[in-house]
Amino acid sequence: IAELGTPERSVITTCAYCGVGCSFKAELNGDELVRMVPYKHGKANRGHSCVKGRFAYGYANHGDRILKPMIRDSIDQPWQEVEWDEALSFAASRMRGLQEKYGQQSIGVITSSRCTNEETYLVQKLTRAVFGNNNTDTCARVCHSPTGYGLGQTYGTSAGTQDFDSVEQSDVVMVIGANPTDGHPVFASRLKKRLRQGAKLIVVDPRRIDLVKSAHIAAEHHLPLRPGTNVAVVTALAHVIVTEGLYDETFIHERCDWAEFKEYMEFVSDPRHSPEATALLTGVDPQTLREAARLYATGGNGAIYYGLGVTEHSQGSTTVIGIANLAMMTGNIGREGVGVNPLRGQNNVQGSCDMGSFPHELPGYRHVKNAEVRDLFAEVWGVPIDPEPGLRIPNMLDAAVEGTFKGLYCQGEDILQSDPDTKHVAAGLAAMECVIVHDLFLNETANYAHVFLPGSSFLEKDGTFTNAERRINRVRKVMAPRNGYADWEITQLLANAMGAGWHYTHPTQIMDEIAATTPSFSGVSYELLERVGSVQWPCNEDHPDGTPMMHVDGFMRGKGKFIVTEYVATDEKTGPRFPLLLTTGRILSQYNVGAQTRRTDNSVWHPEDVLEIHPHDAELRGIKDNDWLKLASRSGETTLRAKISERMSPGVVYTTFHHPDTQANVITTDYSDWATNCPEYKVTAVQVSLSNGP
Ligand code: SF4
Repeated sequence: IAELGTPERSVITTCAYCGVGCSFKAELNGDELVRMVPYKHGKANRGHSCVKGRFAYGYANHGDRILKPMIRDSIDQPWQEVEWDEALSFAASRMRGLQEKYGQQSIGVITSSRCTNEETYLVQKLTRAVFGNNNTDTCARVCHSPTGYGLGQTYGTSAGTQDFDSVEQSDVVMVIGANPTDGHPVFASRLKKRLRQGAKLIVVDPRRIDLVKSAHIAAEHHLPLRPGTNVAVVTALAHVIVTEGLYDETFIHERCDWAEFKEYMEFVSDPRHSPEATALLTGVDPQTLREAARLYATGGNGAIYYGLGVTEHSQGSTTVIGIANLAMMTGNIGREGVGVNPLRGQNNVQGSCDMGSFPHELPGYRHVKNAEVRDLFAEVWGVPIDPEPGLRIPNMLDAAVEGTFKGLYCQGEDILQSDPDTKHVAAGLAAMECVIVHDLFLNETANYAHVFLPGSSFLEKDGTFTNAERRINRVRKVMAPRNGYADWEITQLLANAMGAGWHYTHPTQIMDEIAATTPSFSGVSYELLERVGSVQWPCNEDHPDGTPMMHVDGFMRGKGKFIVTEYVATDEKTGPRFPLLLTTGRILSQYNVGAQTRRTDNSVWHPEDVLEIHPHDAELRGIKDNDWLKLASRSGETTLRAKISERMSPGVVYTTFHHPDTQANVITTDYSDWATNCPEYKVTAVQVSLSNGP
């Protein structure tokens, strides 16, 4: 750092990796970005950062970036580099041609939670106002869509209830299906600081994650549940709270529907939901579970933080509902130190959902069947809005295989790597007649593309990201787009090539349109963000300074709603051929499919995915550390090295999904959440055996 000296200038912007949303100063000498320094006034990170954010600029400057558009008639032909005009008119005429031949519903889009709010708003507008259908979905489908459903049903809105500062007032923190040390490192630091001050911790996770025991920290209780039994564990926690009379009767009377609570109380009181009755199913020691329930209900301010270990299950939505029930029954909602907080994986997954990326919702979570809302958008956009919900990602792929879905515009998303059951994804993509991939790199999905539109990195654009605490942070242009255009401009060019006639000249105009159409954003403007740094939605007439904490005087839906959470076992079963359960997750230095982090200095850490296996399971199979293994499921098989680890429970193995060589999703199944189709990545029956390597 000393060698770099004082930079000539700096630009404050926001990290484009995880949902913490750290603010950085990008420091430049001339046009050269020399380092990223965590910004001490950033409200989400307060001067801290993790290794991913510090080195993120590496991928923006990487030689693998594709900077010129490319087209080809069919996927067995080589790519042909062309100018932007030619690529866009090729894409536009193909998409229009498909609609003429196969109907208006035959094409759609997948938006990216990596892009800005403004870009995402434009992509869903392209779908609704130009394609004329609602076939827009987002990568949130495969991560936090159950959060949208579960918190929407119980509280009335799909968002974390607290800001990150709130954890400093927590007395008890329950972390369910999340590993913040690796997934959300800066939040993890704040949580650990609070734990060192004396707050108590409950960890619900199949692995002994770092939080269970690390330097100066030890969880009070660890519930190492069998993957797939979240609902049974959460219901058993509620059973203890209800049967031991630990619920907050006053809160429930004032803030919830008592009749619904009574029905829920009768359900959870049933002896079949007791810790003892569920122990065989969940693998959790009944006494530990009892003590955890008592601690959460009576230990003061109780906060719940959860991650994809909750949502990516066939009952992901049910678990989210169960978590919401726990917080309501104990009165842990609506003040500092409490609440229910999904730890969002991607930088703008909250914003992507807010901006109307789902096929059934217009911006601001308003259903497309709502005629009043459709009329509002029809007036602003100048076209009627289709009243029927569109296709979700898995439905698009199914319809493609069946021959009715023919064209896809996929922005900033490598679905061949990130979505479950890779073979099915490949079959769906191969059956389409026009796949447009819009990305920084020639990713795996691009093998099936007919048009490649080079994307711009987060350093090359203006806009906003919304982090896990609903905080709208500014993204500022640090350098000119290496590909020639920011992503919002590319979407506009494609829309105009299809006859839209849009005239945005800067993302601030897009934000003004969002504010004019979306009540929870009606007070948001770039002028406000410049003045106050960042703001948490809802930001409107009622909350001109934003809303750090939700549901203070009442729930967004009025009364909080208790919903019965019946456990239903997943269809994915272990058996003699596949006796182990595979679950997946992340590691600190890498991010998702690794397209960015593998092209930064982070690549020196964690250069490959490995399979963590308990010593007992390893010994049974003659496996030693670093041996090559074959990992096989009913869906497929892959090869990776062994890491023998006491972190694992017997019968459960674990891997990350950061490297394309591993193709972890060749293994995963196509089972999904009953309400949202979020894939069940976290439970796959597998067998592990020694192998000679790839
Ligand atoms: Fe912050 Fe997350 Fe970026 Fe790390 S990856 S710097 S925790 S926003």
